[in-house]
Order: sequence, then C-alpha cells, then structure tokens
Amino acid sequence: MKRSTRGCGCAIAVLLLLLGGGTFAFVKWGLPWWRSRPPKPSGELKVYVLDVGPIEGDSILIVSPAGKSVLIDAGDAGKGRVVLDALKRYKVERLDYFIATHPHPDHIGAADEVMNGIKVGAVIDNGVDLSTPAPETPANKKGKGSKAAPPPPPKKKVKTATNFFDEYAAALKQSGAQYEKAQPGKKYDLGGGAILTVLAPSEPFFNKDQMKAGGNDTNANSIVLRLDYGEFTMLFMGDAETQTEQRLLGKKDVDLNAKVIKVAHHGSKYATSEEFIKRVHPEAAIISDGAWNRYGHPAQAVLDRLKGANVKLWRTDLQGEITITTKGKGDSNGAHIYEIKVAKETKDDVWMGREAQKDDSSRSGFIAYGDFGPPPKPKTEKPKKK
Ligand SMILES: [Zn+2]
Repeated sequence: MKRSTRGCGCAIAVLLLLLGGGTFAFVKWGLPWWRSRPPKPSGELKVYVLDVGPIEGDSILIVSPAGKSVLIDAGDAGKGRVVLDALKRYKVERLDYFIATHPHPDHIGAADEVMNGIKVGAVIDNGVDLSTPAPETPANKKGKGSKAAPPPPPKKKVKTATNFFDEYAAALKQSGAQYEKAQPGKKYDLGGGAILTVLAPSEPFFNKDQMKAGGNDTNANSIVLRLDYGEFTMLFMGDAETQTEQRLLGKKDVDLNAKVIKVAHHGSKYATSEEFIKRVHPEAAIISDGAWNRYGHPAQAVLDRLKGANVKLWRTDLQGEITITTKGKGDSNGAHIYEIKVAKETKDDVWMGREAQKDDSSRSGFIAYGDFGPPPKPKTEKPKKK
C-alpha cells in the first residue's frame, strides 16, 4: 500500500513539474512570439526603385498596405525633384521614415531637398557624422577675447564634396523629424503585416584598414534592411561591401533568405559574393545604377554570379523605375507572390556589365562628388559590347 501511495505522489509531482515547466515556457517564449508575430498579409505592398540616374544614386520608396511610407536614400544633389515627384505620383503626403543608408552624396545628396519638400516622421541613419567642424574664429578660440573682428559674411552656399552632409544635417534639424541611429535587430511595423528589420551595420564599424582587399569603409557601414510581408521578402543592401556580407553571413540568427534583393553598391565588384548569393538565394535582383557612372557598375563579374545562380535581373540604368508589387501571398496555386514592372523596355542586354574608368574602393581614395566630367555622347550610354 505504502509503495503505491508513494508512486502516486511521484507521478503527481512529475505532472505538476511538467505543467509548471510548460506554463513557464509558454509565458517566457510562447507568449512573446504570439504577440510579436505579424498579422496575416492584407492588401498590396509596393516597392519603387526610383530612377535617380543618369549619373548614380539610390532612392527606394516602400508603401505598405496600411499606407505607411519609407524612403531609403534620396539620390544625389539635384534629384530631390525626381523623388518628390514620385512621392506625389504615389500619393505619399508624409514620409513615415527616411532612412539614409550611409553618408555618401549619391545616397543623401538630395536628402535636404526631400526633407524640405515633404513632412518626415523619423530619420534613421548609421550615426556616422561627417559634419564640417566649425571654423576656428578668434571668438571661439580658447583664451582669446571677444573683441576680435566679426567673422566674414558667409559666401553663397554651393554644394561640394564636403558639405553635402552639412546640408543633410541642417535639413534634418529643421524638419523637426525624430532622429534614430539604426540598431541591428530593430523592427519597424509598417502596418498590414509588413515589417522592416535593420540587419546592419553592427559595431565595431569597419575602418579603412579592413578594406585593403577592396571596397570602401563608409559603404561597408551601410544600413542593410530586410522587408517581410507574408511570404514576400526583400533585402536592401545599401552600398554594403563583401566585408559587410561576411559579417552578416557569420550571424547565424540573421535570416538572409529573400525573394528579391536590391543588389549592394550599384552592382560593384566589391560586393555580392557567391557565398552571399547562395545564402540569400534570391529569385530576383534589382540593380540601381546610372548609365553614366564611371565605376564599372554593374560589374560583369557580379552579373555573371547572379546569372550563375539563376537569378532574374532588373536594372534602373536600362529600364528606368522598377516597381515591385506584392500581396504577401501567391495565387491559388501558391505562385506569383510578387510582380515586377519596369518603366521602359530595353533592347540592351541586362547581363552586360559596364567597364570602369575609376576604382571606387578605399585603396584609391573614394571620390564621388564633382568627379564627373561632362556626360558622354549618347552613343556611349549603352553598355559596351565586348
Ligand atoms: Zn552609392
């Protein structure tokens, strides 16, 4: 009798332990997962890869099914009109987020024009501050009196290679937008089931010494984003370099698998490694580049790697603005999760790369602004046939 009572007690204890453990696991892991899981997709999500050519630049607009809008980069100086016109065309009256992937002129050169032209809720960048230090005047020099002559009146403002960041910082301050430094892992709920996640940059930031194999440190510290909407997924690589890709590949908890990829760094040879393509396993690749760029974007080697991986390709230099539309789910057969449309058809071969006149890595010193001479004659607009 005694033995059977003891056995019964043990069974109850085990049962209670299991029940307790189960409840604990549910509260600790199950409940947060249940609460954080995105709602089922409802409605259409659009991604517009804008044509901010013909020199070079990135500007991508996301409009969520709930009507929330994100602008990733704003193109080079003077391209604000193109971006603002697109916002108007797609009935975006207010940008919820403006994300500056990295401080290079072809990405934030027109950020001030955009911020001056439309209300922006929040601005997110990678925190790299390239503001020009205030010139040392007798008044702000330590130990000097304030009797010195006033500084000369400011000269007429002209955008240069060095002050594009000042223009961006001033416009950000003036816009009243909330500022956030990008944090890897942070998710932005765009409504309707669409979630934008920051994947990079992570600290410590890359420096010039780490770029000896090629690439540029400012590019390598680009904000990389992932968009999830139901079964649709897209990566936005900014101007990430191979070093960025390697770091992302090393993070086993980061999901890189995506249906569509906005190819890193305008198709530069310093990014989009075979290993990275293999892990992302994209079906479609979009290259945002300019027909008059001198850096050999897109590089033939990158195009060959994408082609070798059976990826379909679209290019803004040849096809203009590229629009991706998705309902986050396929048709009754589970196919056609997304659709890609172009502004213009091209007779040129999208798989033909461009030849570089200049290297764009840290090895030779990055020159991006005012580096372009007069545009080439129309006949050289087309990619060179080899
Ligand atoms: Zn760029």
